[in-house]
Amino acid sequence: MSSHLGAEERLYRLWGEYVDLVSTEEILHWDQETTMPAGGLEGRSQLLSTLAGLRHGKLCAPELLEAIEGCAEEAAPGSVLEAQVAEARWQVERAAKLPVSLAIELAEVQSTGVAAWQEARTRNDFSIFRPFLERMVELKRQQAAALSPDGRAYDALMDEFEPGMKEEALVPLFTHLREALGPLVRAVVEAGKPVDEGAVEGEFPEQLQLAFGKRMAKAIGFDFSAGRLDSSTHPFCVGINRGDVRLTWRSEPGDFRPAVFGILHETGHGLYEQGLPAAWDRTPLGTSVSLGIHESQSRLWENLVGRSKAFWQWALPALHEALPATRKVSVADIWPALHTVKPSLIRVEADEATYNLHVAVRFDLERALFAGDLEVRDLPGAWDETYEKLLGIRAAEPAEGVLQDIHWSLGSFGYFPTYTLGTLAASQLFEAAKKDLGDFDEAFAAGEFQPLLGWMREKIHRYGRRYSATELIEKATGRPLSSEDFLTYLKATTAEVYGVG
Ligand code: ZN
Repeated sequence: MSSHLGAEERLYRLWGEYVDLVSTEEILHWDQETTMPAGGLEGRSQLLSTLAGLRHGKLCAPELLEAIEGCAEEAAPGSVLEAQVAEARWQVERAAKLPVSLAIELAEVQSTGVAAWQEARTRNDFSIFRPFLERMVELKRQQAAALSPDGRAYDALMDEFEPGMKEEALVPLFTHLREALGPLVRAVVEAGKPVDEGAVEGEFPEQLQLAFGKRMAKAIGFDFSAGRLDSSTHPFCVGINRGDVRLTWRSEPGDFRPAVFGILHETGHGLYEQGLPAAWDRTPLGTSVSLGIHESQSRLWENLVGRSKAFWQWALPALHEALPATRKVSVADIWPALHTVKPSLIRVEADEATYNLHVAVRFDLERALFAGDLEVRDLPGAWDETYEKLLGIRAAEPAEGVLQDIHWSLGSFGYFPTYTLGTLAASQLFEAAKKDLGDFDEAFAAGEFQPLLGWMREKIHRYGRRYSATELIEKATGRPLSSEDFLTYLKATTAEVYGVG
């Protein structure tokens, strides 16, 4: 590194190289899920672990720490540089606390663990996955202890996904949700009034669904000259940089909801990535702030926009044109089918009302695992009991129960709560935007989504990591995150569809 550069330039140059490695991993991840042949798996795992090692080395390099220290001396209180330094330091210190041997073993158990999980799920046999999960939990306990010597293991693990979030803040949030959602779901079940979902069912060729989905993504503001949409088994979004944001989708031939709402969801993630601050490209503050905030953007467009009547008033002619099998359906036919409430076993297929109960199950079990109150061998039983308690149903086989999610095989403990944080934040942000700009119904019905997107750009996207997720929500909405707006929305839709509550 040439010595004539000032500390700030050195920081950004070194950080830029780190970001480039992260982007490379993102491209490879996207490639693996969309185009890589199955035979490439072993070679790809080696390549990714090499890159992970290089990335870790970049973060722990003495020259980076020197640049950070240099900037810390120059930075004026309250300045952007001060925030850049704080963010860089936080990430560097976190990386440095993880012993290299532990990082390597985690990466190894991750790749073998995912394969074991897949086999266990296919063969419906938890015992195949159990030894890998036991090792993974042990390593994550070690990691948590290294990161947080004060014994707050779960907080330390959540930091990876939702920096600064605390278990003690989440517990009351989930308790309140459980107390509100339990009776609501029970009331719907007891009312015994199934919704006619015929309006969203039919024969829908994949290419036609894709064309319609793309049209929706474009209409709400996704820039296809800075992004693309491809198919994959599980939909996701990766932001390689602001000019290259990749979404994926999947479809079902007989129901257009998975494709349409999957695409709207991933587009919401993509809009956030495309809206990150250009001035902070390849700097510590230049990326999304947390998975919860990310999820608030996806749920906003998927649920609060995409499931609204106003949206369908506008989208209906396009739907009729794209999917001729829907030609006779009206908004009044479609809308109830977008707001069904049905306790089910699989989280990713869950409706808006029961979804957070699925998350609550995982939150309870993860906390018990890392508090030392639950061991992996007892996990399948604990899973079934918790489902029975919160949703009133029980999986007939482990593939529909404890083996359904990939997260634990990857060591992603503390990830699940971000889904609920995002759901709550989406409603709170939407209400705040309405307060500022007025009701969006007329705009949506006319296909105008720019006002809402502009508000999100202004209040969320442009800040990158300048403020924590908690601060961002308070700044944008004037109050701390709560479940109030989400529950109000949910009770209103459920009352209209089912006549309960
Ligand atoms: Zn998402």
